[in-house]
Amino acid sequence: MRVVGIAAALAASAALLLHGAPAQAQPESPLEGRLILLDPGHQLGNANPRFAKQMAQTKWNGTTVKGCNTTGTATANGLPEATFNWRVAKQLKGMLEAAGARVELTRKTNSREAWGPCVWDRAGHANRIGADAMVSIHADGSSSGNRGFFVLAPGLVKGWTEDVVRPGRRLARAMISGMADAGAPRSNYIRDQLMVSTNTTGLNFSDVPTVTVELGNMRDRVDARRMESAAGQRQYAQWLLAGLERYFSRS
Ligand SMILES: [Zn+2]
Repeated sequence: MRVVGIAAALAASAALLLHGAPAQAQPESPLEGRLILLDPGHQLGNANPRFAKQMAQTKWNGTTVKGCNTTGTATANGLPEATFNWRVAKQLKGMLEAAGARVELTRKTNSREAWGPCVWDRAGHANRIGADAMVSIHADGSSSGNRGFFVLAPGLVKGWTEDVVRPGRRLARAMISGMADAGAPRSNYIRDQLMVSTNTTGLNFSDVPTVTVELGNMRDRVDARRMESAAGQRQYAQWLLAGLERYFSRS
């Protein structure tokens, strides 16, 4: 029935075109005009001993003292998390821009000759540009057999996150339902795919709606296979796109 309906609609619009009627306006994407900061987690050079001093910087995040940044995990075949996050973010940037969004990234390269930026500066970037949303893109390094995506949302830290707890939770719920409805495998080890964190520096420093998405587990064979292929990376970007579409269609 549905196919017939679409065919009929196509025939009708073809007829309109033939008769010179104006083409129907495209419905506006919920992403049109939104300013989105994508944060590809880590940086290849974070593991470069040359930058040990920069990596050793620390800051109080409202609950604990945390470091500038970390190296991230990797698949058994050696794909670094920094590279996976970077590739997905670049794909997603193109998709969001095609839908009319304005997009910035928190880092400009994926290179062994670059470090950071520190997680507090990534959040500072979102605050400075007044992003409508910030999404940090990561992959987990959990036990084999643990697989699927989950989302970290900011928990309540007095004096730090009162402003972002509610919008962050709304963004997290939209990402979870939008991604899962689009086919992203749900985490089988994080309940309801939601982890509320009072201890994630990037979330605590943010003044805009923000979440961290752990797209899958790099230490799991099934997730790793998808993460290592170009088609899989594109698929992750499409799932994130679906989550952001869900969020902005509601706000
Ligand atoms: Zn990570």
